[in-house]
Amino acid sequence: MRATIAKIHIKNYIHNINLIRKHIKPETKICVPVKADGYGHGAIKIAQVSQDLGVDYFAVATADEGKELRDAGITVPVLILSIPTLEEIPILVKYDLEPLVFSKKYIDELNDEAFRERKNIKVHLKLDTGMGRIGARPEEALSISRYITSKSNIILAGVCTHFALSDSIEKTSIEYTKFQLKRFSDAVEEIKQNGINPGIVHCSNSGAVLMYPDAHFDMVRPGIICYGFAPDKKQYEYVLNNKILKDKFKPVMELETKIVAIMEHKKSDSISYGRTYICNKDTRIAVLPAGYADGLLRRYNPNLKVKINGKIFNQVGRICMDQCMVEIDNDASIKTGDTVTIFNDDESFQTADDIAQSCNTISYEVLCCISKRVPRIYVD
Ligand SMILES: *Cc1c(COP(=O)(O)O)cnc(C)c1O
Repeated sequence: MRATIAKIHIKNYIHNINLIRKHIKPETKICVPVKADGYGHGAIKIAQVSQDLGVDYFAVATADEGKELRDAGITVPVLILSIPTLEEIPILVKYDLEPLVFSKKYIDELNDEAFRERKNIKVHLKLDTGMGRIGARPEEALSISRYITSKSNIILAGVCTHFALSDSIEKTSIEYTKFQLKRFSDAVEEIKQNGINPGIVHCSNSGAVLMYPDAHFDMVRPGIICYGFAPDKKQYEYVLNNKILKDKFKPVMELETKIVAIMEHKKSDSISYGRTYICNKDTRIAVLPAGYADGLLRRYNPNLKVKINGKIFNQVGRICMDQCMVEIDNDASIKTGDTVTIFNDDESFQTADDIAQSCNTISYEVLCCISKRVPRIYVD
């Protein structure tokens, strides 16, 4: 096996799911988003573990991601969060995947395909209450739910929306989230009062799971907290300090590699493309077999640090497609073959979120950019 690997700490994942369970009401269902290959952790393994834990639903982005779960024997209901093309509709019907819908034309197409296959397809009505992405306007909720229930081969399995700012504790963000929540619950009430069963009502991403118990309804859809990170540091501190959340989440992914070569360099030698790093003395440079094609993005330079034998060193020079360099200077204890930690699963060095913070991005991006080329090793 190659030296660059992502260790996936299943024990930490189970801790996170149990912590979410304790935080929500016992009757509230959990839907785990395993889109983008389980935020980079491996969708199939995460789904298998979750299915054994009794998770109620999964969510993926694409029809193919849903098919992948079914091919692996996952029988739990699967939501499709993005909009598959019309050509992908047969996959939805064949594999019993549950799309989000809001347009009549799309509903017609789904019904036609389900009718041809002599099946029923479950759908969730998606409302855009202020995210500004996909969904029907709240004032159309009743007429579209009527349209759905009038179709021979479609079942209204749920009504949902998505928050734009639920992870921010700024006053205006909280007001906006409450505004979205009110629009959503009003629309759901209207559907119910007109004698239509809305099915499973759901809208909470991680931020709303942490802060807005009124938004939990029948099911929650926490993604990033399952994988061990909060969507926002300030909100996380707030919920921990106020004992709203009883314990911390544990990062699930650890990224490590091994030194494959140690090069001796002279003062004023340059390192890597563009010659952005010039050695200011005679020094030693360790070469790591990990680059941007593995998910170590070029913009992590010059802030990236790594840990070798308990010591911290700087990554230097541009990160290449398949390799990058670390200055180990005159530290003679460091040898070819030594293990290098890029990020780990606790606060003893740095997590994926620390790298994200130092490079002005979010843990989500660091995690799901770890590419297919990096083997996932499941531990615990
Ligand atoms: C990705 C996604 C989620 C999960 O978001 P987190 O911020 O990771 O909790 C929930 N709902 C929808 C519609 C999503 O696209």
